[in-house]
Amino acid sequence: MVDLKDLKGYSRIGKPILCPAHPAEELRLFCEFCDRPVCRDCVVGEHREHPYDFTSNVIHKHGDSVRELLKGTQPHVEALEEALAQIKIMNSALQKRVEVVAADVRTFSEGYIKAIEEHRDKLLKQLEDIRVQKENSLQLQKAQLEQLLADMRTGVEFTEHLLTSGSDLEILITKGVVVERLRKLNKVEYSTRPGVNDKIHFCPQEKAGQCHGYVIYGTINTKEVDPAKCVLQGEDLHRAREKQTASFTLLCKDAAGEIMGRGGDNIRVAIVPNEKKDSPVRTMVQDNKDGTYYISYTPKEPGVYTVWVCVKEQHVQLVS
Ligand SMILES: [Zn+2]
Ligand SMILES: [Zn+2]
Repeated sequence: MVDLKDLKGYSRIGKPILCPAHPAEELRLFCEFCDRPVCRDCVVGEHREHPYDFTSNVIHKHGDSVRELLKGTQPHVEALEEALAQIKIMNSALQKRVEVVAADVRTFSEGYIKAIEEHRDKLLKQLEDIRVQKENSLQLQKAQLEQLLADMRTGVEFTEHLLTSGSDLEILITKGVVVERLRKLNKVEYSTRPGVNDKIHFCPQEKAGQCHGYVIYGTINTKEVDPAKCVLQGEDLHRAREKQTASFTLLCKDAAGEIMGRGGDNIRVAIVPNEKKDSPVRTMVQDNKDGTYYISYTPKEPGVYTVWVCVKEQHVQLVS
């Protein structure tokens, strides 16, 4: 394909154009066979016996065919210009859309960050409340125990002093009061263990509802599993078909009977055939992270099985 720019020289109007092969001759003729302008020397030389004519005679024929082709090219020019205009429009639409979406992303993220920060402050406040509550409870217990210890010491010291330093008569006179006092002290009930514990968990994966329309996660959990309150649920606790997977659910609850709402407790399961106590069935425990545990097993043979489920090394009651 010839670059049209190279042909620009031919369009210089009025100026004679000389033959490149014969620089003394003008290109006035047109070789029909080679389809190009030639000079007088050409038609007797290289183009001998080729049909030719004066350029002024053939221009109409060739001009018309070029015009005909031009008609086919013109719509392409328009279509391409239109396509470029569309690209320009699309490019500016793209820029605007990107700005709009970027603004949406920023608004959403800033809102989310605010919601998370608000939730963080709420959690820290909740943690502080728990600390205060537990600390107050410990302070109260401490005060009560200190009072009791002081009473005990007084009682012990007084009695020891009486017994070592008192006269027989003094001992006999005070005996009644002392005995009553010591008996009372010996009967006082008190707990030797702290009344509260430090069981506080942060559960980052637990849903914490919504804050300004954003779903947020992370809760503080102070519940402690109480094996006595845990229950097992499911049909397959009582019967299971051989070679078919059976399952049941363990619900872990705290001392108040409320479901734990978090996973991570130490669960041990053993399912043992009553006939073959030394070959327990393989079991799977799936922590559902919400205080429930999915337990499945596949008995190899028909028979009666005993299900043992231990939470914190204590057996869970089988409740039907
Ligand atoms: Zn020539
Ligand atoms: Zn020719």
